[in-house]
Amino acid sequence: MNNPKKPLMLVLSSPSGAGKTTLSKKIQQSDNSFEISVSHTTRKPRPNEVDGLDYHFVTKKNFELLLNQNAFYEHAEIFGNYYGTSKSSINQITQKNNNVLFDIDWQGSQQLSKFKQLNLVKVFILPPNKEELEKRLIARNQDDKEAIKRRMLAYSKDVVHQIDYDYVLVNDNVDDCFNKLKKIISKHLQI
Ligand code: 5GP
Repeated sequence: MNNPKKPLMLVLSSPSGAGKTTLSKKIQQSDNSFEISVSHTTRKPRPNEVDGLDYHFVTKKNFELLLNQNAFYEHAEIFGNYYGTSKSSINQITQKNNNVLFDIDWQGSQQLSKFKQLNLVKVFILPPNKEELEKRLIARNQDDKEAIKRRMLAYSKDVVHQIDYDYVLVNDNVDDCFNKLKKIISKHLQI
């Protein structure tokens, strides 16, 4: 009988600036069975972001409407905006029997863990150290000084949650970190 394996649900979380987005894109490029889960958010799009591709950008009212309809697997408020993973986005991926890559924070990861039927693997990515993180945030030129300060404050609160993850990787070299991630993926794809 045909008994397809459960899709792998790979969660990547990290303090912002640790390189998670780069790693997510590398995974998708190297293995097209992985699709990135496109979240809903009430945050305003950044100049290079595309609606439906980077996020589903929605108003607070629409987000709350979806929340009331129980449309999300998980959701969180981060830096004053709502973020959530809709059930329909995930179903669209798993119906194709593809694997799912989540770029979500520790709050979302914690909520997904409650769905015991999911084949969840949770990886926390750390920057080499706090000073390096600050340098990266400045170098990527995406946030003003205030936002960088906020992200640095959030860093200290976020890192304590690494304990809830299956794996913790330090991203001091993106290729090395990616190779470690690939090993984790192939281990779990075989199970
Ligand atoms: P950004 O606004 O920089 O794109 O993302 C801010 C944070 O929100 C990142 O840590 C990202 O992983 C997290 N995030 C993005 N989408 C979701 C989601 O659907 N749920 C949760 N819990 N976090 C999310």
